[in-house]
Amino acid sequence: MIEELNLATAEYFRRILQQIDPDPNREGLRETPDRVAQAFKFWTSGYNKDPKDVLKTFEDGASVYDELLFQGGIQIHSLCEHHIAPFFGVAHIGYIPNGKIVGLSKLARLAEIFARRLQVQERLTCQIAQALEEHLDPLGVGVVLRCRHLCMESRGIQKSGTITYTSALLGAFKKETSARDEFLKFVALADARTPNL
Ligand code: ZN
Repeated sequence: MIEELNLATAEYFRRILQQIDPDPNREGLRETPDRVAQAFKFWTSGYNKDPKDVLKTFEDGASVYDELLFQGGIQIHSLCEHHIAPFFGVAHIGYIPNGKIVGLSKLARLAEIFARRLQVQERLTCQIAQALEEHLDPLGVGVVLRCRHLCMESRGIQKSGTITYTSALLGAFKKETSARDEFLKFVALADARTPNL
């Protein structure tokens, strides 16, 4: 089934090449439709993955930890659903456990599941936060994304280096100033330390 999908995708790209290049059968383009189909399979691989599979929680050690857990500078690569152009940057994710925690690598895996779909940055931010809320039932969740969008850098308004920030704050991060301030302090530290991708 997936192979059939790949063949169909490659065929579409073969037709697109025929529209945009005067010599679509030249050596350099011969394998391109197949390569693009393979690339798209990877770029959209998040559709086949379920957040609940990476968010298996454990309680060992969680009962004594009820402070902010923060990970910053998680690299993300996604595709904007309006132009199928890349957008990329970093995610900063934090939560305050309520008896359940996840392995440290799982936050990056969760971000990857939603990033590897056709997206807008706003939805991607909310989906990461809501998945954590749903599976961990934490006291608070915060997600901040800092991204560059090639659809507005390489075309359209053509403003290179423009940075778009989005945030989703739930629970204590939304309601309590002190929790939000602590989270945003970590975000600022992580943001300053991660390269402007
Ligand atoms: Zn776009």
